[in-house]
Amino acid sequence: MAEARQILSLNRFDGDAAPDLSGSVAALVKRRNATFGASSVLFYREPLEIVRAEGVWMYDSSGRRFLDVYNNVPSVGHSHPRVAEAIARQAATLNTNTRYLYDNIHTYAERLLASFPSELSNVVFTCTGSESNDLALQLARGFTGGMGVIVTEMAYHGNTTAVSEVSPSSFRTRAVPPYVRTVPAPDNYADPVEDVGARFALHVKWAINDLEKNGYKFAALLVDSIFSSDGIYADPPGFLKAAVDVVHRAGGLFIADEVQPGFGRTGTHMWGFQRHGAKADIVTMGKPMGNGFPMGGVVTRPDILTPFCENTGYFNTFGGNPVAAAAGLAVLDVLRDEGLMENARVVGDYFRAGLRALSGRFPAIGDVRGAGLFTGVEFSRPGTREPDADMATYVINAMKDEGILIGAAGQHANTLKVRPPLCFTKEHADIFFAALEKVLAARA
Ligand code: PMP
Repeated sequence: MAEARQILSLNRFDGDAAPDLSGSVAALVKRRNATFGASSVLFYREPLEIVRAEGVWMYDSSGRRFLDVYNNVPSVGHSHPRVAEAIARQAATLNTNTRYLYDNIHTYAERLLASFPSELSNVVFTCTGSESNDLALQLARGFTGGMGVIVTEMAYHGNTTAVSEVSPSSFRTRAVPPYVRTVPAPDNYADPVEDVGARFALHVKWAINDLEKNGYKFAALLVDSIFSSDGIYADPPGFLKAAVDVVHRAGGLFIADEVQPGFGRTGTHMWGFQRHGAKADIVTMGKPMGNGFPMGGVVTRPDILTPFCENTGYFNTFGGNPVAAAAGLAVLDVLRDEGLMENARVVGDYFRAGLRALSGRFPAIGDVRGAGLFTGVEFSRPGTREPDADMATYVINAMKDEGILIGAAGQHANTLKVRPPLCFTKEHADIFFAALEKVLAARA
């Protein structure tokens, strides 16, 4: 079996193995290495210098355009004029710390909360997904009095000290601390069972028992409800509910990390946990919330937030500032006015149907799965379900040469992570199919 891969190593530029880079790309890589040192992480065998982007297209320094099927941050489209204009207008009017009253943050809070079940009636604004998950952990641990947290084996939830502890896909050499348990992702391709939800719930139950047996009170199950870093597991809708019910029966909380599936990406619901009919106690948000303007948030119940604020309190200098509120409101407006959630459903279904048709001709495509505009394409050695990471790496780099940007996901880095801006159309999907067909035929 192939070894598990660390998340930052996926589709990573390797300076030692790089072909001769030229021109401004070579100069920038050199400057970057000199200043960022070991923390520099770039995509692709030959990194890209991107100078502008619009809708689903990104343009490099030579003027070449690339179809972006990777970036979920510019969720309503790169450089969307309504979002850009809202940010610019607010920045030219007022941007200050968050302990003054200003109207637009309250309009935004009300609009955002209206998309959640009514019991989730409080919101705290942050600047990143990591900050959101950090606060969620503090809330859950405060509320339950426990330290024990359960996450999936290849989870990624962010980069603070506490959140790194529950992000095993970040680890190169370290392991999760004793009060964290990992459970296998609900993968029904590598190891199929009749009821993937029941199996996932059983793993969660075992993990809760194991925590308690070792003296760690259970606090929360924290999952990304589309399991993006694990390899994208969306189906059948509803499968997550059984595990969440186990969590609640054990007195724990369910933290739904909506950084990836949130804001309509899965096509049928604004939030991924809603696709599963699961009851979330804390919901965390980030990436697409400001279409690139750094903002995040935590939505929860007052009975969870109030005791925490009485004991600890929370202040975030930039979270929920007037410019963030303007960006967030513009994103909600565009999502509604351009029907982007519905577009995600319709085009996502079309996209996966086209990929499944291709998989009939190219046995390297082992599985096609996902929801809305979040699709995983898993490569296996033909006739088996053994992961084929070399094929995924080949496809990612060859598709780049064809002018299409994709990323990798999953424990074995053999799954394409396809999650374009939500303004992706059927015509864009057709461009993708033609390129993938060419790239796979060249290797067949
Ligand atoms: N949760 C999930 C599921 C994520 O994918 C990420 C980022 N990749 C985060 C949290 C952290 O978000 P940020 O990088 O904004 O801190």
